Order: sequence, then structure tokens, then C-alpha cells
Amino acid sequence: MKNLDIDTLKGMSNFEVAALFLENSENNELGLKPINVGRGNPNWINTTARLAYNRIVEFAIQESLKTINEDEGSMAGYIEQTGIADRLREFLSSSKEDKFIGDVLDYTEKTMNLNQDELVFEFSNGAIGNHYPVPSRSLINVEKILNRYLEQSLYNGVKLADQTDVFPTEGGTAAMVYLFNELKISRILQPGDTIAINTPIFTPYLQIPELSEFNLKEFNVSSDESDDWQMIDAKFDELKDPSVKAFFVVNPTNPASRAFSKHALDKIKEVVEANPEIIIITDDVYGTFVNGFQTIYSVAPKNTLLVYSFSKLYGATGQRIGLIATHKDNVFDKIIAKRTAEDESVKKEFTDRYSLVVPNPLDMKFIDRTVADSREIGLYHTAGLSTPQQVMMALFSLTSLIHENDESDPYIEASKKVVDNRYQTFYKSMGIEGNSSIDNAKYYTLVNIYDVVERKYDKDFRDYFESNVHYLEFEGKLASKYGVTVMDGSGMGTEDGYIRISLANQPAENYAETGKRIAQLLEEYHDQYKNK
Ligand SMILES: *Cc1c(COP(=O)(O)O)cnc(C)c1O
Repeated sequence: MKNLDIDTLKGMSNFEVAALFLENSENNELGLKPINVGRGNPNWINTTARLAYNRIVEFAIQESLKTINEDEGSMAGYIEQTGIADRLREFLSSSKEDKFIGDVLDYTEKTMNLNQDELVFEFSNGAIGNHYPVPSRSLINVEKILNRYLEQSLYNGVKLADQTDVFPTEGGTAAMVYLFNELKISRILQPGDTIAINTPIFTPYLQIPELSEFNLKEFNVSSDESDDWQMIDAKFDELKDPSVKAFFVVNPTNPASRAFSKHALDKIKEVVEANPEIIIITDDVYGTFVNGFQTIYSVAPKNTLLVYSFSKLYGATGQRIGLIATHKDNVFDKIIAKRTAEDESVKKEFTDRYSLVVPNPLDMKFIDRTVADSREIGLYHTAGLSTPQQVMMALFSLTSLIHENDESDPYIEASKKVVDNRYQTFYKSMGIEGNSSIDNAKYYTLVNIYDVVERKYDKDFRDYFESNVHYLEFEGKLASKYGVTVMDGSGMGTEDGYIRISLANQPAENYAETGKRIAQLLEEYHDQYKNK
């Protein structure tokens, strides 16, 4: 058992602290089954898209064998496009995944008007990965499908699919790295610029801008539980000042798990009117977990960079699949043009830099610069995301798109039901009410231990508990004695005493246990207090 003193813990990141708690939880004093509710990795997966992917690989290999067949089929050739869609139809059996592939063909033909041979040719070559990704930014049909998926799941009825460029990336992680780099290289954000971050937030968004290479001035626009974790109007008003160059958002938030309300989206529109060159990055990875979700991108498309990831909904963190989306007419390109016109040395730098790969370097769009700069420009021609990953993303998207005309997507409904059930189980066993706001994604929940104490006991015990028990002591003991690992909230910008419980990673019965053990530890402190 590691002895953890509070001062040491305070100096560490919340990920490091959770790793230490986890180690101690495994040899907990009471010999209980260790439970880690600190992790955001889901414990479910989408099977349909994965099985369909396998079938496309089998089909593509059968096709490849028609042109070259050596060493008893170990070596095959290239795929012929003409008539390939019909051959795929013939290949399909009556299995569930093959029926899904049939639905995909119907949907993409009838609803999206995609050329079937081109689509199947792209998917077949893409799945076996026998060609460099061309075009670099995104495969043609994959982009159309991703656009349609984003529109259906995140825009709440606003039509933007035809006006959006998509760059598939190695997860949301790479999307963030590429964007921060590009904002610097293209001089959209300059050292010393002021940026706003809606806190509490996923720690990397707090840490990256602080790095010396970015040297940005960060200010936090925080939200509190008393406002149901929504930003209040006064915070939006702060963003109207043109000295605020950027606003970074996770929506629905991590750790608070709240979507920006309709009112908040109206405030965003006001902000963009007052501060027309503000740039917004919104990370909407949890969007589908909220009924009627609407992204900031759909209300301020020209100012917003949209990041999405397939990691959470489809249980695909190991695949590394996500994307960046931008509107075709956007402030990023306008700011680049302005910087270029204002400063000869910037103009020369951009010309030298991008003339290596394109004939009209100064016309290169922000999103294409992002692709080129993700590979140090020189390797722009092989910059695109691996084609198997692109096809996988398209297939995940299609599992949802084929339900476009149904009331809902049963997989997405199931994912919401899973986390909601765990959420209710957890709060019930802890003995307090959860939150039923429509904006609550319930992928995580933030629990304030001092507040729980007041709700379960009284104000006097809360006062005692708050002044005598440091939250890291409580969290440490929860792990070392009761075997439960949680994520501390303060590293993500919450007030002291908040713990983040992920509802994604454990079976429901472990949430019943977690709530029970938290209640038991609190009871232990309450006994101490009574004996004083
Ligand atoms: C989990 C998570 C992601 C997903 O990142 P990947 O690199 O795609 O796995 C993105 N953003 C936030 C805020 C997350 O919590």
C-alpha cells in the first residue's frame, strides 16, 4: 500500500492520482473487489459495423483473386470497379451483418444517390488497405457519409452536410493536436492571445494552451452545479469582448456531462455577432448521449471547428477514429487571408511553406493546411487517415444513418439506456437523488462529497467534514480501504470536493457497490464526528 500524503497528491495530475488510487484499491484493507469508476472507456461495443467490415474484407479478397491468384491464393491482385456493387449483392447471405450491408446499399443509393460501383469499390479497396488514402483529406464517399452522420446526430435538423469539409483523424486526440498546431502555424492564434475555456473540462484542454510553444493566455469561464452546470449569461458576455480570440468547449461536457442548453446556444449566437472573429472549438464526442442534442457548430458554423470521435458511442477507443469538420465558408480562412495581406513576411512564409505541395499556396484552405501540416507538409500526399479506419468510421455512421426515417436509432437508444440505468443505480445505492435535466448525458457524473454529506446528514456535519477531511484524503481512503477508484474533479477545474464517476466502464452491479461503499465511508466519518 502506497502512503499518499495530500501535498504530494496536490502536485500531481488527476490521471496520475487516479493511477495511484487504483494501485492501492487492488490491495484494499477490507479485501473487497476493486472497482475502478475513474475511466471513461466504455465497456460496450457496436458489433454490426465490425462484422460488416469483416464481410467487406472477405468480399474484397474474393474480388482481388480474380485478377491475380498466386501461391494458392496467398497473393491476389487488384479490384475491378465495373459491376462490383451487383457482385457484392450476390455475395450477401441472410446473416444479420449481410442484411445490414444490403441496407447500406439501399440507403446510399436511394437516399444519398451515391454511385454504387464507386462506393463499393472505395469500401473494398479501403477495407483491405491496398492504396494510399486519396484524396488526402478524406475518401470521397466516406466524407459524404460522415457529413450525413454528423448532420443527423449532432445538428438537430440544421442542414449543413453539403457545406462541410471533413478530415478523418486518429481519434479526437489527433484532431485536437492537429488543430492546436494549425491554429499556431496559420497565425490564427498568436502568442499572448487570450482564449476562454469552459470549465470544468477534460484536462488536456486546460494543459495544451498553457504549453510554452502556444503561450496563450487562458481564462476559465466556469459553470457550477447550482446552475445545472450551464454557463450563466454573464460568462457569455465576457466572450463578446473582441480581445477574446478563441473559446474551447467540450459539449456535452466532460466531467459534468451536460449539453449546452437551447438558451446557451442562443447566447453563442449573440457572442458571434458581437465578436465576429472569435473561433470556437467544440468537442462533441458525447453528443449522441443527450436526447435532441444540438452542436454549437450548427448555430455558429462559420466560426466553429467541430471535433467528433467514434471512441465512446461505438466502443472503439482502440481503433483511433475521429474527425475535424469545418464549414466551407469560415472565419479561419478569412483570418489567414488577413494575416497574409497584413504582413509580407507571413505572406512569404505561407508561400514558401505550401508551394511545396500545391500550385496556389496562398489559397490553401485552413482545413487542407491542417492535413498538410499534420505530416510536416512534405508528406502531404500520404497524409490521409488509414483507409481501413476511414471505412470503419463510415460503417459505424451507417448503422445510424439507415434509421434516418425511423423514430430513432435503436443502438443509440440502447447506449443511453445503459448509462441511465447505471446512473440511477448509483444514486439510489448512495441514498440521494440524481439529476434529471434533459441536458444530462449521464456518461459521467460529478458528485460533491461535502454536498452529499449535507443531503444525507445535516449542515453541522458538513461543516465539520469540510474543515477536517481533505477531499483527497476521502478519495484516497475510498480506494485504499473500500477498493473504489474515482477521478478527482479539481484537476479538471471543479471546486474542491467533486469526484467524477464514469458510468461507461462498469457493469450496473458495480455502481450499486460504489454508491454503497461511498455511503459506508461517509458513515464512518459521521461516527468519528459523533464521538468527538
Ligand atoms: C474520450 C474523449 C475523447 C475521445 O478521444 P479519442 O482520441 O477519439 O479516443 C475526446 N474528447 C473528450 C473530451 C473525451 O472525453
